Amino acid sequence: MRHLLDISPSELVEELAAMGQPAYRARQVLQWVWQHGVCDFAEMTNLPKPLRAELAGRLVVLTGRPAARSDASDGVVKLLVEWSDGQATETVMIPAARRCTACLSVQVGCPVGCAFCASGLDGVARDLSAGEILEQLFHLRSAAARRITHVVLMGMGEPLLNYDATVAAVRAMVDPARGGISARRVTVSTVGLPSQIRRLAREDLPITLAISLHAPNDDLRRQLVPAARAVSIEALLAAASDFFARRGREVTLEYVLLGGVNDTPACADQLARLARRLRCNVNLIRFNPVPGVPFVPPRESALRSFLERLRRRGLNVHLRASRGADAEAACGQLRRRNGKSVTE
Ligand code: SF4
Repeated sequence: MRHLLDISPSELVEELAAMGQPAYRARQVLQWVWQHGVCDFAEMTNLPKPLRAELAGRLVVLTGRPAARSDASDGVVKLLVEWSDGQATETVMIPAARRCTACLSVQVGCPVGCAFCASGLDGVARDLSAGEILEQLFHLRSAAARRITHVVLMGMGEPLLNYDATVAAVRAMVDPARGGISARRVTVSTVGLPSQIRRLAREDLPITLAISLHAPNDDLRRQLVPAARAVSIEALLAAASDFFARRGREVTLEYVLLGGVNDTPACADQLARLARRLRCNVNLIRFNPVPGVPFVPPRESALRSFLERLRRRGLNVHLRASRGADAEAACGQLRRRNGKSVTE
């Protein structure tokens, strides 16, 4: 059985041609799935009944199921999606007045192992397919009945280590005949693999690139982001500059503030010197405490002074609002609470 969300529109046309069907049937199927959110072929009422049955025997639209749900008082919804092999990943919807953002996972677990993140505690079990990445949009849409306007690939996993599936999923979500989300509203977040950033810059996709920097010098970054041991900040900045030169899109630098670790005035000054060399925005993120992880959030005064120091140096800095604090907000927490780990 093939996963419909894993195949391209032209492959769907071929699949239907093998059933003796004209090409326009593919358009009808995609409209049902993407525009109307109908994932059961039996409900696709403008298709002949025998075709609906034949499609159901060959293709499946949803391969996972929401196994747990956590709702925060501010409207953030977090789902644990269990896949057909029993592995599970988290996906999050963050609603706001004029936008609704889906935060999607790209791997089961994460091989990067950031010292402050629950998703990396158990390593990685496998990559998600493009269809599994996309399917999270459908589970979120049914769980929260909101139209998704923005997507961030910032959940579990490192998108650039699952490059082909990530790019295929992004192409589907920005395709007007499928997801129809503006590419400018799609963000790929990476800890930074210079060669893959350069490759992404050469795709015809005007997406936003976010680099998870988290430290303003190589020594501290190697402690906080183990996978960065082999990648210097210099190499990362060069790749980010290349991305801007190719795509004309400002890069976002993500920086999780950890109390007493990377929130000092000296760190702010070092970060400012790096960021001023790029066309970029800086996103500061207040650390969300994670059981079993030895870090604390920054003090409010340290956070404010860090932010002001960057702003005084002319940087475009945002403090990302802390959302979903009562919904196991930190990446990987819901999965651990539900006893899912990649070593099971
Ligand atoms: S913060 Fe992101 S890259 Fe780091 S371990 Fe967690 S999921 Fe992986």
